[in-house]
Amino acid sequence: MPELPEVEFARRSLVRWFDGHRLVRTEADKKARTFRGAKVADFLKVKGALQSAARRGKYLLLAFSDGRGLVAHLGMTGKFVKRRPGEDVPYSRARFVLDSGDVIHFRDPRLFGRIEPAPASKLSQVEAVAALGRDPLVDGLTPEQLEDALGRSKQDLKVALMDQSRLAGLGNIHAAEALFRAHLHPGRKPTSLSKAEWGALAKAIDDGITFALEEEGDDGELDYVEEPGAPNPFLVYGHAGEPCRRCKAIIKSFTQGGRTTHYCPSCQPKHPKHAKQRSTP
Ligand SMILES: [Zn+2]
Repeated sequence: MPELPEVEFARRSLVRWFDGHRLVRTEADKKARTFRGAKVADFLKVKGALQSAARRGKYLLLAFSDGRGLVAHLGMTGKFVKRRPGEDVPYSRARFVLDSGDVIHFRDPRLFGRIEPAPASKLSQVEAVAALGRDPLVDGLTPEQLEDALGRSKQDLKVALMDQSRLAGLGNIHAAEALFRAHLHPGRKPTSLSKAEWGALAKAIDDGITFALEEEGDDGELDYVEEPGAPNPFLVYGHAGEPCRRCKAIIKSFTQGGRTTHYCPSCQPKHPKHAKQRSTP
C-alpha cells in the first residue's frame, strides 16, 4: 500500500513525465468512485503544463498552468503509469493525455484512491490536506518535533505514528519499520518514551524513508509489496514467522488498531529494562 516513499515516487514520476509536455486532455471513468464527493466536470477541464507537483503525507498536490489543480490520494492500490497511445490499461480510472500522445493513467484496481479538483492556489487548503500533521521529508523532523507531535497521545505508539493529523505519511509498513529500527515495541505508550528513544525514533523514521526511496530508484514502475511477486525489501514488515535479521528471534505479528503489526519480540521489548544489549543491524 502506498505510503510516503511510494507517493514521493509517484510525484517524481509525474514531474519527469510532464517535463517539456502539456496536458491536452483529461478523461475519466465517470462511474468509478475515484471522484467521489468531487466534480468530475472540473477534472475534465484541466489543461496545460504541470507547474508544480508537491506532496504532503500521502497526498499529491498538482498545479497546472491554467490555474486549475488536483489533489490525489493513491488509496490502497492506486498508481500513475505512462503508456503509449492506444495501450489498454486495466483499471484505468482517469487519464492525462499529453501533447506527445502518451497517456498517464491513474490505475486503481480497488478504488480506494481519490482525485479532487481544486484551484491550483488553494490545494493546501483542501480539507484533507489542511488536516495533515508534519511531513518528515518536506518539513524535517527533529526528536523534539516528533515528541511534540506524538508525546501526549494515549494511543499505542504505532497507532499514533499512523495518525496522519500528528505525522503525515507513515502507514502500516513504515510505522512498523521505524519502530523496528528504533528498537521500540509497537504497543509502547508515547508518554513512556525517553528523550533518547524519541531521538532514535526520529532517526529511524528518516532512515526508513531514505532506504525506501533508494530501493524504489528514480525510474520505471513501482510494485507495491502486497502485489503478487513483488519483492519485500523491508526489515520486519511482512516477515512474521521468519528470523529477525538482527537477532534471529522469530518475527511476530498481532492485530493493533485493526491492522497487522509485525515486530521482533526480542529486540523490540515491551518493557525495555529487560532489553538485551542492543546491536546494530
Ligand atoms: Zn530481533
